[in-house]
Amino acid sequence: VAKSHGGGRAVAHRPDLDTAVLTSPALAARLEQALDAGELEVFYQPVVELASGAVTGTEALVRWRRDGALVPPDEFLPVAHSTGLVVQVDRFVLQRAVGQLTAWDAEGLGTEGHYVGVNFSVRSLERRGLVEEVLAVLGAAGLSPARLLVEVTEEAAASSAAVRATLERLRAHGMRVALDDFGTGYSSLAYLEQIPADVLKVAKPLVDPLDAEPATDHVLRALVALAADCGLEVLAEGVETERQRRRLLGLGVSRAQGYLFSRPLPAEEARGRLTAYPELVAP
Ligand code: C2E
Ligand code: MG
Ligand code: MG
Ligand code: MG
Repeated sequence: VAKSHGGGRAVAHRPDLDTAVLTSPALAARLEQALDAGELEVFYQPVVELASGAVTGTEALVRWRRDGALVPPDEFLPVAHSTGLVVQVDRFVLQRAVGQLTAWDAEGLGTEGHYVGVNFSVRSLERRGLVEEVLAVLGAAGLSPARLLVEVTEEAAASSAAVRATLERLRAHGMRVALDDFGTGYSSLAYLEQIPADVLKVAKPLVDPLDAEPATDHVLRALVALAADCGLEVLAEGVETERQRRRLLGLGVSRAQGYLFSRPLPAEEARGRLTAYPELVAP
């Protein structure tokens, strides 16, 4: 069975074992217990402003500490989605992340307006009362809605007019919305104009080719121009190399996250990485 090592960061995981041993219904039952037993954790990945190296926020990413192993979301969210349990997972992560941001605020950590990105599944966005629930969580923590970045995949945002109306309402209350994983799956440029969003998170497969010599960046270049026309800020995901960072800057991409800066970390470890990456400011 998979073992985590090195402060809970790297995980040698065995998808073959994990998925073969637990069938979907068993996995769903086990996850429901895990929620009650407090086996879910939230990791945080810094989001960095490319020009200054400043950390402008973090993304909250769920993890399941199961039998000593750290199970990544891709291994249990699909089942959680099909049973509807993902709504509870999303709610847990939202509460935890909002609490964490408040705690960091109290410690004077992070830059002004430091935000947290929380992933919302389509199941959550379809729920009646979601907007009120999110506002209640923020209100209880005394956190301004502007401090929350609601991350939704383009597929979810495109799924129905009701979901788009919910995103519109979240924005009307001051939250920001990010289109996650843009450039993968069923990306349709037509939606860029229809989805109420503030940030375009460009997916790793579009960032990867920036490492090639010469770089293949035609699609990314066009996307950055398109995003600017649509009033969207571009955030690059999965930045792993200095060469990618430099080229993203050259393309006019303002922010990024990726292993180059930091992997997603437990709150206690992320805490020390919330200010800046001065080593990256040098051209
Ligand atoms: P995402 O929202 O696109 O999150 C980014 C994913 O890319 C994370 O995977 C992160 O660990 C990974 N990543 C970040 N930088 C790099 C890099 O430089 N290289 C590589 N190879 N990967 C990088 P993770 O944490 O496994 O999460 C996977 C997906 O699970 C997320 O993709 C998100 O869609 C979903 N997810 C995570 N937490 C939640 C949650 O609380 N609720 C919901 N509904 N979905 C969640
Ligand atoms: Mg995300
Ligand atoms: Mg993403
Ligand atoms: Mg993803």
